[in-house]
Amino acid sequence: MKIFFLILFLNFSTLQTGAAELCSNFYLDSPSRGESQIKNSEIKLVRLPRPVDWTTGKIPPFLNGIRHIEIHQSFFERNKFENLTSESLTKLESEIKIALINEADQVNRSVLELELATIAIQNRPEVVTNNGLDRIKKGKALILNILEQLNKDTRFKDLFPAELQVMAQDVLNLYLIVENEITNGSKNRKLKQVNWAISNRCPLCCKGCYFNFRKKEMTMQDVIAVAKKLKQHGVEEIILTGGDPLLAGTPNEVKDVFSEQKNLSGTGSLFYNIVDTLYNFGFKVAIDTTGYTLTENTAKAIAGKVSFVGIPLDGPNQVVVSSFRKGQDDLFEKTISAIDLLKKYNIPVKINTTVTKSNLNHLLELAKLISERGYSEEWGWSVFQWWETRAESKLIEETATPTADYLKAVSQIKKRFPRLKLRAGSVENRALQYFEIMTNGDVLNYSDTKQPGTIILGNVIVDSVQSLVDSPALSTISSKFKTWFHLAGKIEN
Ligand code: SF4
Repeated sequence: MKIFFLILFLNFSTLQTGAAELCSNFYLDSPSRGESQIKNSEIKLVRLPRPVDWTTGKIPPFLNGIRHIEIHQSFFERNKFENLTSESLTKLESEIKIALINEADQVNRSVLELELATIAIQNRPEVVTNNGLDRIKKGKALILNILEQLNKDTRFKDLFPAELQVMAQDVLNLYLIVENEITNGSKNRKLKQVNWAISNRCPLCCKGCYFNFRKKEMTMQDVIAVAKKLKQHGVEEIILTGGDPLLAGTPNEVKDVFSEQKNLSGTGSLFYNIVDTLYNFGFKVAIDTTGYTLTENTAKAIAGKVSFVGIPLDGPNQVVVSSFRKGQDDLFEKTISAIDLLKKYNIPVKINTTVTKSNLNHLLELAKLISERGYSEEWGWSVFQWWETRAESKLIEETATPTADYLKAVSQIKKRFPRLKLRAGSVENRALQYFEIMTNGDVLNYSDTKQPGTIILGNVIVDSVQSLVDSPALSTISSKFKTWFHLAGKIEN
């Protein structure tokens, strides 16, 4: 049963988090190019609210005095979503290799080697399964050398920044997991469930949002091609995420409304097309939306086609909610209306709550609200520990809840409200379990340490699903996969 629960709390947008005084806008690429009914003249770049990119990209002070400034800068900027692509990581990898050829100083070399090893495992670790163990062996050897030197050479230890020592250990741990997966993990895994981000637009502006916005959104042609691949592989369930999936294809239709954020409304034609297509393919379709733009028409249109709709609700009132998810002053009110609307059309709702320092002390009050309004009756209530992937130290300090506090809060709720269908999702439980398709087809997974953080498995448009699923950077025990555990009947699913 425990494993079964894992399936349910793997919805990506609930991992994301918010609070952002610095919320900024940006211009989207022209959307929905695959939709033939849209004339070119109608396609405009539209200013949309977007979460702050809170990765500063500044060289951390601990690298003062270390050479190859530009390369280190690029390394620390690589987790900004615009740089977190296979192409830019590959380019960075070559630049580091060139710098290494010219570097004689041992400390400088070790910093570069650590960066190299981090990128090697972050960027398409599935090539390891295709090209043999070479890359992984080299990467691991680089880190082991650094750790060995740290142990035996006090001068080196003093010179090698402490933060990087932690990073070396984190990255080594991931290498060990990957190596173990290659040696002992099951091959030919079967993927059962995917999270698929179909929209890079969102009405909210959350601080610490780590959704990896990609400019490109799939056309219907791409969607159909990917759906076929997933179906052939044997995927059973697709959870549509974003950004906000409801907004897939909206700028053409609601561009005037978008210029006034507060009146956001509507659902994109691409969203309807995708839901219908996936439903007709025979997938179980679920949706993870902010609910902010949900209308009665949308609820009517998806009723009967979706297995559940996940809605984030982080607190019992607007003050608590907006301490976390910024961008809309009426978010709480709209969230409650969206849930009630879904219930009116008998669409099962799953409440998703992300636990941070700002709502930790309000969870019992939220539990009371959920209990009184019967919100956990169908798909229940998933309570996630905020995931600090890619966050800066300041944000972590302000936001992250220590695991012990998180678990204590969860157990208090369970005690006080035993009838609520609560599922807890600590960061540890969710690490290396994702198969998250981005709007451009990139497939991402996440480690539970800041480095390497996000891992690019490949791209579902160009790679075979099987090669992505067999990536050693995915944990064998994930409930998303049918593994030998399932075949042996050891996991209830
Ligand atoms: S709701 Fe939107 S802004 Fe907030 S975390 Fe999710 S994608 Fe980011």
